[in-house]
Amino acid sequence: RAPMAKSKFEYVRDFEADDTCLPNCWVVTRLDGRNFHRFAEQHGFSKPNDDRALHLMTKCAQTVMQELEDIVMAYGQSDEYSFVFKKKSNWFKRRASKFMTHVVSQFASSYVFYWKDYFKDQPLLYPPGFDGRVVLYPSNQNLKDYLSWRQADCHINNLYNTVFWMLVQRSGLTPVQAQDRLQGTLAGDKNEILFSEFNINYNNEPLIYRKGTVLIWQKVKEVTTKRIKLPKETEEKEVEVTRTRSKAVPLHCDIIGDQFWEDYPEILAD
Ligand code: ATP
Ligand code: ATP
Ligand code: MG
Ligand code: MG
Ligand code: MG
Ligand code: MG
Ligand code: MG
Repeated sequence: RAPMAKSKFEYVRDFEADDTCLPNCWVVTRLDGRNFHRFAEQHGFSKPNDDRALHLMTKCAQTVMQELEDIVMAYGQSDEYSFVFKKKSNWFKRRASKFMTHVVSQFASSYVFYWKDYFKDQPLLYPPGFDGRVVLYPSNQNLKDYLSWRQADCHINNLYNTVFWMLVQRSGLTPVQAQDRLQGTLAGDKNEILFSEFNINYNNEPLIYRKGTVLIWQKVKEVTTKRIKLPKETEEKEVEVTRTRSKAVPLHCDIIGDQFWEDYPEILAD
């Protein structure tokens, strides 16, 4: 690289705001699809949950974890994903704008790049966008509560959406009628409607819908075949090689209770 020559214009750099994240805090970056209510409609997402869209979101989040540094876990639901950077991360000197923009742009380009793997022949009609934010959590409890908040949000929305779309798709109510019917109902009432009118036990609905997706690093064994030439032989041979690699693996489990953190203590260890 050419040496950086100082010019009389250099002073403008001082106008940049310092956005260094406070040391020792968990850095959480959350992104969310822009106007995905419309995006889902235009791309014919199945309601209440489109599996292709959920799996594409997770593929993008895995790409973010693999391509960027220091992400210890991620949690996603609907059109959002949260990424947790390790407390001690010094990636880009902990600049919030770097964390946020790298996460969001890597995610957005992955969404477009991998679209066809999940939506096959269905064309992507326009370029989707995502917003991003960075929030710092000073204690492990704050971080756990943040993730619990997102998972509770997933549960509340999914319970509502599951009943809402049953009323629309099975009972033929208009969206406005379904909304009116659910106005003021509690979780218990919604469970009851599902059970008595549609014979659905909400607890048997797929975990991916009820709990969202947690991504954690796991060592996985990979068996690949390699063509190698052994020293005393002339021909190349196919040999199986096993190697262990860290992969961002999806789970659909509860993260509100203590069990998850007892099962995976390495996430919070620095
Ligand atoms: P960082 O991630 O820190 O930005 P970087 O490799 O992107 O690292 P930059 O200072 O942003 O570093 O420099 C961008 C580099 O990309 C240039 O040094 C050059 O090598 C290459 N590059 C970008 N645009 C062009 C272009 N149009 N033609 C040739 N090379 C280019
Ligand atoms: P904003 O730009 O403010 O985020 P939004 O329309 O994206 O607006 P959200 O609150 O983020 O609003 O809600 C996302 C919407 O995207 C959901 O309400 C739902 O309609 C749709 N959506 C996202 N993922 C899926 C999915 N997998 N299956 C079906 N619908 C989905
Ligand atoms: Mg540059
Ligand atoms: Mg929003
Ligand atoms: Mg959104
Ligand atoms: Mg959202
Ligand atoms: Mg660059």
